[in-house]
Amino acid sequence: MNVMANRPRRLESYVGGHWVAGAKEGVPLLDASTGAPVAFIDSTGVDFKAALAYGREKGGPALRRLSFHERAAMLKALGQALMERKEEFYALSTATGATRADSWVDIEGGIGTLLSYASKGRRELPNTRVLLDGDVELLSKDGTFSAQHILSPLQGVAVHINAFNFPCWGMLEKLAPTLLAGVPAIVKPASQTAYLTELMVRRIVETRILPEGALQLVCGSVGDLLDHVEGQDAVTFTGSASTGQRLKTHKAIVENSVRFTMEADSLNAAVLGLDAAPGTEEFDLFVKEVAREMTVKAGQKCTAIRRVIAPRAFSEALIESLRARLGKTALGNPADEAVRMGPLASLDQREEVRARIRDLSADAEIVAGNPDNPSITSGDSTAGAFLNPVLLYCDKPGSARAIHDVEAFGPVSTVMPYDTAEEAVDLARRGKGSLVASVFTNDPAFAEEVVLGLAPFHGRVMIGNRVSAKSSTGHGSPLPGLVHGGPGRAGGGEELGGMRGVKHYMQRTAIQGAPTLLSAVTGRWLPGAEARAGGEHPFRKSLAELKIGDQLITATRTVTLDDIEHFANFTGDTFYAHMDEEAAKANPFFDGRVAHGYLIVSFAAGLFVDPAPGPVLANYGVDNLRFLTPVNPGDTLKVQLTCKEINPRANAEHGEVRWDCNVTNQTGATVAQYDVLTMVAKTRE
Ligand code: NDP
Repeated sequence: MNVMANRPRRLESYVGGHWVAGAKEGVPLLDASTGAPVAFIDSTGVDFKAALAYGREKGGPALRRLSFHERAAMLKALGQALMERKEEFYALSTATGATRADSWVDIEGGIGTLLSYASKGRRELPNTRVLLDGDVELLSKDGTFSAQHILSPLQGVAVHINAFNFPCWGMLEKLAPTLLAGVPAIVKPASQTAYLTELMVRRIVETRILPEGALQLVCGSVGDLLDHVEGQDAVTFTGSASTGQRLKTHKAIVENSVRFTMEADSLNAAVLGLDAAPGTEEFDLFVKEVAREMTVKAGQKCTAIRRVIAPRAFSEALIESLRARLGKTALGNPADEAVRMGPLASLDQREEVRARIRDLSADAEIVAGNPDNPSITSGDSTAGAFLNPVLLYCDKPGSARAIHDVEAFGPVSTVMPYDTAEEAVDLARRGKGSLVASVFTNDPAFAEEVVLGLAPFHGRVMIGNRVSAKSSTGHGSPLPGLVHGGPGRAGGGEELGGMRGVKHYMQRTAIQGAPTLLSAVTGRWLPGAEARAGGEHPFRKSLAELKIGDQLITATRTVTLDDIEHFANFTGDTFYAHMDEEAAKANPFFDGRVAHGYLIVSFAAGLFVDPAPGPVLANYGVDNLRFLTPVNPGDTLKVQLTCKEINPRANAEHGEVRWDCNVTNQTGATVAQYDVLTMVAKTRE
């Protein structure tokens, strides 16, 4: 289907495996620059209860049959397929008021998030369907009763209600961790820009990469959908605080304890350091960052800088620099390549922002930009929702309210002066919890005081200075690996944050029992579980033959003083504890000279390794190495090596094997404990 050729067109919802048009003609959605209709939206008649059931019964089981690595591969294929079609998304994105640079954040930023989760899932998660959370908890002295926390996918549907400002990224940043967790989603984009989300979902469906039921789309109102959510479902919301609070207290959500994640209004602050006087690199970087955050997406960003907190002595120079920079921002129809800032999403949205500027004016005076009379370089000034950047100044921010309370969701910021670092922190905190703050300083003491003061009130804090300037991702960019969300007014939710985001769609359960049964449930051998020693050396077995619990008990080796001295001189590690009997005795931990920890690890390898070429391809490290009992000359070492976890790699001839390595002395005391990590071929040559 050629979407562009059919404009304006009726958007459809994708539910129950079909594209469904609303029963009514629908509300027109207008191009933000020209006012021309782009699409009509309506979801009347969609059976939302059936859509939830379809996700739970069809999408969920299909996703849960896949391992984390298979789901990660699916995200990668999807990201690549969407990237191939990106120009089609860019073309339609112009209608939302986005410039090419704005659309890049939304489209390629969104696809990049998918790809990033694909790669993180492959690298950071095991190739299993269940995740282990933390270490084994020993619950009995004799080791017959232990516990392990696990995470397993919720068996419901994730309902994602998104904001109008990022129709692609807003969907993909939530979808990636949801699908990786093994949970299907119903996406409800904000109506104003839903045509772009709908186009992307059409392309996703056409690829047939996702299992049926894994992704459904609602274009228009969600009707009675929330009445039918249950305890295994999750609802996420991005948008205004008022709608978020209403949905959070929805009867079904409260009664069924449905997980609810909210990301709402946020009056993010940027603090200029007391050291960052005009003429410093930090001052210039700060000016650039504030101007950029005000104008990217015409300031319609949840992370945009709304409050500019600057030393009183630098405020005048700062306003002057910002006024000059903002004055150069070419405002107009983003179809024109010379345009640097597009219109707001709609005329209604512009009226809303103008009203909020009037609220802010109770506390602050406008020092740059005229909200009522846009000066544009191209486009239709009557039909387009154009608004020049507006900078305000509040001289007494400590006693003002509106500037800390009113979110004008557009190219609007307020400069507020401070005198001490403590005062800067206090002003930032008056936002009552935000997604992000930034601090521009080259003074470590200022950074420490301000960042630690801001941290409890923010989900992310970025420090800007001359060193990171070139590589910095900036104040306003949420990143897949970093937490996005904030306390208090920002909604109290958390998204992204790498694998943390995946766990939001999984249930954590403490499993208690005998080690052998815990091992059967988790797929990971743990101390005390049954093991099979005495057969073929486990290094002779391919992945196809190796089993969790296959074990090797080695011969013994006695450590001599000669061994210790030889190792010391050979490696150059002649630390006194190995070489000087008297000094070693004076050490509170030792009773005379001891063997090097790395000598113990080396002797252990000498005891457990099978030298001939075979399925074991390489040793790629050790995890959790601990030396627990000193080894003196004359002590005798023995190793128990047990296959702990097997991770076959998708699309490769090998996989990873984790071995539990327990080195003991002649009394049976553990002298060293660690995991040995190896690459092993899937089959024998
Ligand atoms: P809304 O809160 O009105 O809408 C957000 C989402 O919720 C949209 O998808 C909307 O759908 C949906 N929605 C609205 N009412 C309901 C309901 N009763 N049940 C289920 N879903 C519902 O925010 P807007 O997107 O209209 O933006 C308004 C303001 O919110 C902005 O001016 C800005 O101040 C703030 N905002 C803040 C953001 C942030 O992250 N900080 C992001 C975006 C907006 P529909 O569009 O179909 O009504």
